[in-house]
Amino acid sequence: MIKRVVGIEYHAIRFLMLINIWWIGTRLYKNPFKSMVVLIKLLQNFTRMMGGKTLVRAFKMEGKYAWDMFNPAWPSPGFNAFFKRHLIEIQATQEDNRALRRLIVAITKRCPLACAHCSEAATLYQKDVLSLTDYYDKIDPFVDQGVGQLVFSGGEPLSRFDELISLLERYQNRCDQWVYTSGYGLTLERAKRLKASGLNGVAISLDHYDPNEHNAFRGNVNSFEWVEQSVSHCLEVGILVALNVCPTRALVDEHGVERIIEWAKNKGVPIVNILEPRAVGNYQDKDIALNAKQLDHLWKLSERFNFEKVHITYPTVLFPAGYRKQMTCGGGRSYIFLDFDGQLYPCPFCKLPLPKERVEESLCEAAA
Ligand code: SF4
Repeated sequence: MIKRVVGIEYHAIRFLMLINIWWIGTRLYKNPFKSMVVLIKLLQNFTRMMGGKTLVRAFKMEGKYAWDMFNPAWPSPGFNAFFKRHLIEIQATQEDNRALRRLIVAITKRCPLACAHCSEAATLYQKDVLSLTDYYDKIDPFVDQGVGQLVFSGGEPLSRFDELISLLERYQNRCDQWVYTSGYGLTLERAKRLKASGLNGVAISLDHYDPNEHNAFRGNVNSFEWVEQSVSHCLEVGILVALNVCPTRALVDEHGVERIIEWAKNKGVPIVNILEPRAVGNYQDKDIALNAKQLDHLWKLSERFNFEKVHITYPTVLFPAGYRKQMTCGGGRSYIFLDFDGQLYPCPFCKLPLPKERVEESLCEAAA
């Protein structure tokens, strides 16, 4: 169901995708030359972020092509909306300077796990306060004003399955939609419903190659099994799958991330996303930060799997902490986090509520 695209086909698809962005810019700026200049800047930014290199593979699902989990699949309305905002971030117009293009939404405080690194630990397991209608009221204006990608998280978003399905159906054909999950309760039946409701991708958390170590980290003896089953069900129905990996120092030092990448390859997972542990939630005030050598190791790992020909059959390996060396963080500018109480934050890790004025002025009037 998910096909790897490389070589001439990859370059042809990439070229057509860039033409699409150029056309979005031409309509936005009413000037094809200006659009080309902004597109070149956008490409230069991407290349700088990737350490001067360009990804060499894409993944095809039902006529759409995806490169990673942070940019919508092409062609799609979500892609068009997302890249219009991306162009505006580089070169605003007189009428419009809003760069916001991704909204991360926590839809529940419920969760069957108790992870060692949970950033939401202080508010988990409490009663949900926002109804489905509340979420519509909060999300609709963002989508109306150009957000092209929605990411549903929690807690465990699959704990509120019926509401999740309703949200996916509402924004289907308007946004690229992802769910960040532990894989809890993701049966084949549910995978089919998620797909039919408009889910494009699922990021499933796997933090150790060893089932017992992963389960201990996640605080649930069934967690590894849920990961295995949910990966296989999502791939079977054609949902793009990424693994979210938050490695400990020990895992990096014993080359455990490489073993997870190998695991992903064997299962047919297209994307592995390596997250840097952050001192928030359960990790608050703990000495968990990766050192410079470990960060460098992970950066080189992502380069090796992304650009070396010998690894062409491996997943694309993303390492956002490495990209931030080249680019400023987009939290609060290109993406924003709506938590389960309806409060807006720059991102799930920066728990400083966004000032109302800032939201009104530079992001989206919808948040007022
Ligand atoms: S990290 Fe996610 S899955 Fe783990 S306890 Fe927190 S909300 Fe639940």
